[in-house]
Amino acid sequence: MLRPLPFLRHSLWSSIMYGIVLDAGSSHTNLYIYKWAAEKENDTGVVRQIEECKVKGPGISKYVQKPNELDMYLTECMEKSKEVIPSSQHQDTPVYLGATAGMRLLRMENEQSAERVLAAVSRSLSNYPFDFQGARIITGQEEGAYGWITINYLLGKFTQKLSWLSFIPQSQETFGALDLGGASTQITFVPLNYTVESPENSLQFRLYGKDYTVYTHSFLCYGKDQALWQKLAKDIQVSSSRTIRDPCFHSGYEKTMNVSEVYKSPCTNRLQKTLPFDQFQIQGTGDYQKCQQSILELFNTSYCPYSSCAFNGIFLPPLQGNFGAFSAFYFVMDFLNLTSEKVSSEEQMIEIMGNFCSKSWEEVKTSFPEIKEKYLSEYCFSGAYILSLLLQGYHFTNDSWEQIHFMGKVEGSNAGWTLGYMLNLTNMIPAEQPPSARLPHS
Ligand code: AMP
Repeated sequence: MLRPLPFLRHSLWSSIMYGIVLDAGSSHTNLYIYKWAAEKENDTGVVRQIEECKVKGPGISKYVQKPNELDMYLTECMEKSKEVIPSSQHQDTPVYLGATAGMRLLRMENEQSAERVLAAVSRSLSNYPFDFQGARIITGQEEGAYGWITINYLLGKFTQKLSWLSFIPQSQETFGALDLGGASTQITFVPLNYTVESPENSLQFRLYGKDYTVYTHSFLCYGKDQALWQKLAKDIQVSSSRTIRDPCFHSGYEKTMNVSEVYKSPCTNRLQKTLPFDQFQIQGTGDYQKCQQSILELFNTSYCPYSSCAFNGIFLPPLQGNFGAFSAFYFVMDFLNLTSEKVSSEEQMIEIMGNFCSKSWEEVKTSFPEIKEKYLSEYCFSGAYILSLLLQGYHFTNDSWEQIHFMGKVEGSNAGWTLGYMLNLTNMIPAEQPPSARLPHS
């Protein structure tokens, strides 16, 4: 349960405030520490990330059978937080944990298991001297909305600002947000002349004196790890053979997998079929075009009950304006050197992807010895998946591709839902514009 914050208790002693948010993602947990000056907390752009701590180990949903180990799991980053935040501020520092699609999937599989994991995490976080505010599974809508708030807050889109170069006000048009996790992906933006055809995709905000009607959708099972499981489930079903020749992996790459592992997730278990073997082997063939074709089968575009759709019958209004693409969109495209504004045509990207995917696994490993093999082996699939999702799934074109800006951080803070979540829960984004943020003539 969320409790009211004792925010003003120490404001006479210190005007610096801190907040901690843990992003419990499907594949890993990250802890972020934010810092701001209390007297400026209603202005936009004053909250800054001062620390990022990657929790060692997998996502919390993997601790179903061993919830007691979550205590150890969180220790290092929580101890780090005790060092980074002055001890006089500990009891006034709120701590939030938000779990995303990995835990949404676990809850679908078994609600009690998900509750047990959250209870263990909550018990552990309550043992620190901070002001623990709760651990919960956030909805896909929240994940999309808070990601959108984060990037627009950091980009200074919510208040009228004059550029230091000129006295011309900077464009206040907000950026859309594209977020790719392991288990889900979100798209959030302000459409032009928006007619709300599907209320569950529509959000209303009043921020700093301005109204926003925002479109958002979270595609569960279309994060890059679950998308790969979907593809493998489809492939073993079709081939019914112990060996899969997979164009999305480099030639020379081989991996043995358990059939039960593929069908474990709610994203794949509807495809389950009894097979005469328990294990199968992936053998890479490294062919980008074939990989792309296989990925496209994951997007059902055969029906649309609205004026326009993304895929699987989900409403998507026409794209509008610039977009910030972050999380795995950034990790993967950064690795593939596809983030530059210079690489903007589909042909250029296909050429780069084609070259990369056709490299042998030995060559890739030798060229990037410092990168974890799990990531390295999947960049061909992940790059192909990202291009399919953006171009065929969301209908970006050669022209609108230039509007996508791949971003890891903005002004030193990670792009993601955590900052927006904290700003909202600490009431730091006012509905009306505070006097200090107003332009002299407005
Ligand atoms: P989540 O854990 O749900 O937030 O998802 C993060 C996704 O990003 C997972 O698919 C991870 O495998 C992936 N990821 C994290 N870091 C990297 C990296 N450096 N390169 C490629 N993928 C990454």
